[in-house]
Amino acid sequence: MIYVTRPSMPDFEEYCEEIKKIWNSKWLTNMGEEHEVLQKKLEEYLGCSDVVLFVNGHLALESVIAAMNFPDGSEVITTPFTFASTPHAIVRNGLIPVFCDINPENYTMDVDKIEELITEKTVAIVPVHVYGNVCDVERIDAIAKKYNLKVIYDAAHAFSIKYKGVSVARFGDASIFSFHATKVFNTIEGGAVCLPDDSYVDTLNNLKNYGIRDEENIVAVGGNAKMNEFQAAMGICNLKHIDEEISKRKVLHDRYVERLETVQGVKMCKLQKEVEYNYSYFPVVFDGFSCSRDDVFDVLYENGICARKYFYPLVSDYQCYNNYQMSFQKNTPVAKYISERVITLPLYSELSLGEVDKICGIITRIGSK
Ligand SMILES: *Cc1c(COP(=O)(O)O)cnc(C)c1O
Repeated sequence: MIYVTRPSMPDFEEYCEEIKKIWNSKWLTNMGEEHEVLQKKLEEYLGCSDVVLFVNGHLALESVIAAMNFPDGSEVITTPFTFASTPHAIVRNGLIPVFCDINPENYTMDVDKIEELITEKTVAIVPVHVYGNVCDVERIDAIAKKYNLKVIYDAAHAFSIKYKGVSVARFGDASIFSFHATKVFNTIEGGAVCLPDDSYVDTLNNLKNYGIRDEENIVAVGGNAKMNEFQAAMGICNLKHIDEEISKRKVLHDRYVERLETVQGVKMCKLQKEVEYNYSYFPVVFDGFSCSRDDVFDVLYENGICARKYFYPLVSDYQCYNNYQMSFQKNTPVAKYISERVITLPLYSELSLGEVDKICGIITRIGSK
């Protein structure tokens, strides 16, 4: 079976060497040495003032929204073309997601459609750098300033990416990253909030550790969302190899493009100008192809290849949101069109060029029927 992704892992010995320190200190969690080291290394690598580490990307997002303390029932403009985490983080904070359509070129939020969704209840925009395509950060910034809105980027797909030479972690009021096993950079599970200054750092540290400032002072009603030392150790090891991982992915990405660009009805994302990519996903949209996306998915599966209908369904169509339907704006035709036609193909650093050729060969064969 060829899976859609496989985690990047350091050599076993390298990880053992790193976690020996944990055996010596017997400090397993609660912001130990490994946590401290990873945080500093990420601040440097991502080029942002402050990084607050979390047990996963979802709780990073949920916590940074909570840190901004919006009134209950406020509206947050976001995209329906994302992972469950994005809208859930908004709803679990007692806020209402308002879904903005995406653009057909790179599937990020269509910035021409944001302003018409703004009401007196709007407090924030949560755009997603989906598949590592960078949102129109300049226009989003201008809109946010004009209406006095916060911007929190869901940058779960965008680790290491730069736009015009600037790390994506530097845009908006905050960005969140996921370090889940399936992401380009992983800490097994993990995540972080990246901030342009330290204004939310104390609040985020409270939210991830019960609001405990010191033994006798519990200053906030926080939860528990701390990254543990084994996760941080994995991150320290993986970070050493990240640039090499991304170069391997680029070779595979370029091979996919070379093999598929002449196939009728297979549409790939056009690479954006001035973006340094991480090649995290390889989405293709079947439009005007010889058969449907679902048929392609099934044929690939029969041939031992797991693609993924990512993202399908749209988050705004989740059954858990049926009760909320009345207050959701759900008119997002482009997102619907893309989600019915897209799959992501296998892409991970250990995938071989031969495997990419095999996958492209199957797609080419279906396409010529
Ligand atoms: C993976 C992901 C998250 C959540 O991250 P976890 O680390 O899995 O909790 C959030 N948003 C998007 C777009 C993601 O892909």
